[in-house]
Formats: sequence, structure tokens, C-alpha cells
Amino acid sequence: MSELAAQNITYLPGVGPKRAELLRQELQIASYEDLLYYFPYKYVDRSKFYAIRDINAKLPYIQVRGRLTSLKTIGEGRQSRLSAMFSDGTGVIELVWFKGHKYVKDNLNSDFEYIVFGKPTSFNGQFNIVHPEMDKVHDGKVKIAAALQAFYNTTEKMKRGFLNSKTIHKMQQNIFLSFQGKIPETLPAFIIQRYKLLQLHEALKTIHFPLNAEILEKAQFRLKFEELFYIQMNILKQRNQRNKSIVGHNFKTVGNYLLSFYEQKLPFELTGAQKRVIKEIRRDMGSGKQMNRLLQGDVGSGKTLVALMVMLIALDNDFQACLMAPTEILASQHFETISEMLEGLNVECALLTGSTKKKERQRIDEDLQSGKLQILIGTHALIEDRVKFKNLGLVVVDEQHRFGVAQRAKLWRKNTNPPHILVMTATPIPRTLAMTIYGDLDVSVIDELPPGRKPIETAHYFHNRRNNLNKFIKGELDKGRQVYVVYPLIEESEKLDFKNLGEGFEYMQRIFSDHKVGMVHGKMKPKEKDEAMQEFSSGRSHILVSTTVIEVGVNVPNASVMVIESAERFGLSQLHQLRGRVGRGADQSFCILMTSYKLSEDTRKRMNIMTSSTDGFEIAEADLKLRGPGDLEGTQQSGLPFNLKIANLGKDGQILQFARQVVEAILAEDPHLEKDENHLFIKQLTKLSREKMNWSLIS
Ligand code: ADP
Ligand code: MG
Repeated sequence: MSELAAQNITYLPGVGPKRAELLRQELQIASYEDLLYYFPYKYVDRSKFYAIRDINAKLPYIQVRGRLTSLKTIGEGRQSRLSAMFSDGTGVIELVWFKGHKYVKDNLNSDFEYIVFGKPTSFNGQFNIVHPEMDKVHDGKVKIAAALQAFYNTTEKMKRGFLNSKTIHKMQQNIFLSFQGKIPETLPAFIIQRYKLLQLHEALKTIHFPLNAEILEKAQFRLKFEELFYIQMNILKQRNQRNKSIVGHNFKTVGNYLLSFYEQKLPFELTGAQKRVIKEIRRDMGSGKQMNRLLQGDVGSGKTLVALMVMLIALDNDFQACLMAPTEILASQHFETISEMLEGLNVECALLTGSTKKKERQRIDEDLQSGKLQILIGTHALIEDRVKFKNLGLVVVDEQHRFGVAQRAKLWRKNTNPPHILVMTATPIPRTLAMTIYGDLDVSVIDELPPGRKPIETAHYFHNRRNNLNKFIKGELDKGRQVYVVYPLIEESEKLDFKNLGEGFEYMQRIFSDHKVGMVHGKMKPKEKDEAMQEFSSGRSHILVSTTVIEVGVNVPNASVMVIESAERFGLSQLHQLRGRVGRGADQSFCILMTSYKLSEDTRKRMNIMTSSTDGFEIAEADLKLRGPGDLEGTQQSGLPFNLKIANLGKDGQILQFARQVVEAILAEDPHLEKDENHLFIKQLTKLSREKMNWSLIS
């Protein structure tokens, strides 16, 4: 393969400097190998012919065989088009050209039979094909590949430079023609044999020139498997190495802090799931290894309490602990909840955020280093270099998708021996994604909500039902409940959004003049924000109009209605997060998604999923399928650390799982890949990590 990687694409027949530049600029294709790994995005069956009378508007591409019955130019000058009638004996279809009339006219002839290929569209009850591909039938013999034809994505700029899907297809052909011998294998023979995979050479050839659907599937499987296989191998091998080189703080004891909290302070019975994950975490922290664990739990499943209890275990072992949250609102809320729960237990706890006063900061710095301060709760401020602990043993990161991987790594360095890390997320990450991005984290799941919660009822309203909505809100307010109204805030249209938010606020004030309406948004000073939040959580204000700053974590059990304005502008996971702000108390809660009439197909699906499911994992899976992993919340900020060329995390979960099992089996036998038969893995991993620099960032 290295040979193909070294071959400059400029010298491939049919390319040349101009096209090479286009390929490099537009598709980052520089070598033969790059082009070979530029895979088609779809295939069209060219092995069968349609009868014209069977054509319907749903067919994407068709192929018909017949003769021209007329050919004429319609209109004049730049507006003109060339129109031909084409018949196969079963019916007639119109063929249309807007460009290159003269060439087409000179080259088409009603004496010959043609194969016409293209995408039919219907216009006024009549089907036509614009700019069809035409192949002459020689001596009545049909010379076509009884095969699927590959289509490649190209950009506008490429098309303007006459570099289209067909040209790329030709170039692929030229690679196989000019390349002598077989493309070197990238998986060892024993894997190919054991799992009956196609050889790389055959797989690549098939992916570009499939003979039929069956072999195409085998080729796709081989290439997807390999792609996922090496990602997993990279992750799991690194994890092995890390486990070996890092000694974990061993939290052997469960002592007074945890026990007295459990006996005196625990406000309710733990759920079964909470008990189970606490056990898992305890076992991990007492194993002598450094813990790297992801705690997944749907919104409202009670992760904060788990965090607190495991921090107390750290304290019981004479270590400090910290809890980091993505926003100030959330950090202060955690601080309040936790301080309250710890009252009387003699635990030193402090809050550190960007707006902590200088004097308080100094005190925190000193007390952290002396060890007097045991639990530090805060925002990103915790990561700063000046924050030095005496003996940090555990870091809990809440709602971790807001943090980049690099930031997490900084936390590691807060002690000579890295602390245990517990990453908590309410964005349920589908299993497949977790296995790729957080593949080296162990996962605990809280899959049970505290008892007595009623599933949130969700409805989708168009704007014309605003009066009904207002009546409904009034009813809830009369029962003493509180209401959230959330507006989108997206950077590109920030001005407009603010206008909407402001107007929404005024509207609510006008309609519900007997009630106090508050407002929160990201541009407010932290102090003002806090005050508005405080007012709402203490029940002094009844309606809170806000942007998504309240998306994460905020806990006001008395709030029972969540109205999401312009719901079409939110992703599924975000909608689910927002909805999770209600349904936290014993009352029946409601979520109303407001949208305009005009909705895309995808949006309609999103609204349907929201109204029919309250299961975060189900929603996340659906989101992954609908949007693809690149867009999935939780990966947006950090981005998937690699580009998948062929595998699709939303659809290829099974292949991923299979690839991971194969990797695990190999590493179990040969953790450092020293055996001869495993040599190729090292070579491939080195090559891939050179190409995909970001790999090192997968943590
Ligand atoms: P999240 O997992 O979304 O962070 P929280 O930790 O904020 O959820 O908990 C949501 C609410 O559930 C809080 O009001 C909390 O006090 C309550 N809660 C947590 N655990 C239990 C439990 N075992 N039984 C009853 N209520 C609980
Ligand atoms: Mg939370």
C-alpha cells in the first residue's frame, strides 16, 4: 500500500496538474491510495432495463432501450433546449438537453438503437430525462457491464472543472489498469481466513466496480470491519498501556464520612441502579488501578447523589475530591445541594468559578494546598494551573460533553499520580458511539429513575394553538406549578433569537400579568443570572423564559411545564435534555414543542420520536440514525476524532461490536502485539496514527 500512497495523483492517466489540484483542494486526494479510498456514495443498477410504460416518479435512475422518434430545438438562444422523443415500443419518454445541443444533435441518429440512462422526472403528466447518458447499441448487441454503477460525490467547483462522478469512475479504472499486481493486504491472513473476509484488493476493486449486490455487500463489510477494527485496536491497546504504567490510588476503606452520610443524611432510599453503580465505582477505585469511568444516566436519574457518595469515599481515604460542572449556574446549584446534604458532617467544601472574589479565591488556594479543603466544586476554573491540591484523589466531571478531551487531560495532572476520573453524562451516548469515542472508559449506567416519577407527557403544537397553550399554562400555574419557556439561541442568528426571546418575555408578562415572569440568557452577568435562577428555584417567580442556558442539570422539582419554542431548531438530544428539566417532582409534567407549519421530513420525525418516547437511549439511537454521528450532540464540540470513510456508527453498530470482540481476543493473547502473525497490526497502526493525528486525542 505504501507504494500507492507514494504515487502522486497528478501522474495518473486522465488526471494532470489541473485536476490534481482540484482533487487536492476539494477532496484532499493527493495520491493513488487517497483516490482508491474515496468511496462511492451510491450505486445504480445498470443490469436491467425498464419498460417505459412502467416508469414512475419514485425511480431514482433508470435505463431504457429504444429509438428516437423525433428531435427538435425548442425556443431560441440561451433559453432554447433540445427535445427528443424516445420510444421502446411500450411508451414514449422525452429526452431534454439544455446545453451542448449541437454536439448532441450531430451525434444522435434515429437509425440506431440506444440505451438511455438517467433520472426520470415527471412534468405535467409526462416523464422526461434531462441530460441523459446515451450509448449506441452496436449490431443489436448490448455492451454493458451487467453490474452496478458507482456514483461519487463531487463539489460544484469540481463540476465546473469538468470533474464529475463519471470522471472519477474512469480514474479509478485507470488505477487498476496502471497498477501491476495486487494491492497489499492490510489485515493478516489468519483474520481474513477466520472470518471469511474478501482480500483487500478484491474489496477495493469491488467497491468501485461491483458485479452484483451480493459481492458489493461483502466488500463493504470487509472495509467497514477493517476501519472499525483499527480504531478499536488503537483505543484498547492504549488503554492496556495506560493501565500498566499508571498506579491508581487505592481507596481501600469505607469510613466515617460515607457511613454517617448514609445513616444520618440520606434523604431517600437509593434506587437499585444507584446502589449498583456506586458498587461498581467503589470496586474500581479500590482495585489499585486508576479509574476512568463514564457514568451514564438519563436526566433526573440521580447522578449528583452518586457523585457525592463517591467523593465521600475519597475523603474517607484521606484524599481530596473535586466536581466540575459546565456552567456557573450548575456549579452553584451543585454546591448548594451538596453543602446542604453535608451539613453537620464536618466536611470542608467550597465553590470556585470565574466570578469567585479575589479574597475567597486566595482562601481556597491556601486551603486546597494545606488539605483543609476537602471538596471543591466549580466550573472550568478548576482546570487552571494555579489550582493546586494537596492530594487530589477523585475528579468528577458532570455533563462531560461540554468538556473537550484536552481539558480532561489537564485534570489528570493535578496529582503526581493521576486521580480517579468519573465522567457523568445525561446525554445518553449510544453504545456504538461510546465504544468508539470513549472506548477506553468503563461504563456504568443508571437505568432506573427514582420511584414515583410519572413519564412526562409530550405534545407537539403548531403556532395556531397558542391560545390553548396559554389556557393550559394558566391551569398549571393555578395549581401552583412553575413553567419554563425556552427559546433557541444559535450563533448565526443570535440577533433574531434575542429579539424572539425578548418578545417572548414581554408576551408572557402581558398574558400572565398576575404572575412573576423571569428571564435568563447567556449574555447576562453571572450575578443577574444567578438571581433570576434563584427567584425561580425558590418559587418567587413562576415562569422562566430562557435560552438553552438551563439545558443542563438545573433542578426545580416544582416546575411541571416545559414549553420549547421553535422546537424545529433543536436536535433530538437537546430536546430531550430540555424536557428533562421537568418531571423531577411527584407531579405529572408536560412538555410542549411549538413549531411552525412548515416542517422538513426529518423535523417531523424528530417531533414524533419526542412525543412517543421518553427513553433517552432510544432517543439518542434515533438521533444517531437521523443525523449521523458527526452532528450528534456530545461529539459536536470535540468532533469525532477521526473521519470514517465507510463505516456508519448509526448503522454499523453490529460490525463495530464484532470488530471490538476480535480486537479484544487478539489483545488478550498478545497485549503488545509482539507475535509474528500480529506484526501487520503494528505497521498499520503506525501508518494510521500518522495519517490521523487526532487519534492520540481519543481518550
Ligand atoms: P441528574 O441525574 O439529572 O443529575 P439529579 O441528581 O439532579 O439528576 O437528581 C434529580 C432529582 O432526583 C433530584 O431532585 C434528586 O434529589 C432526586 N433523587 C435522586 N436520587 C433519588 C432517589 N433515590 N429517590 C428519590 N429521589 C431522588
Ligand atoms: Mg445532573
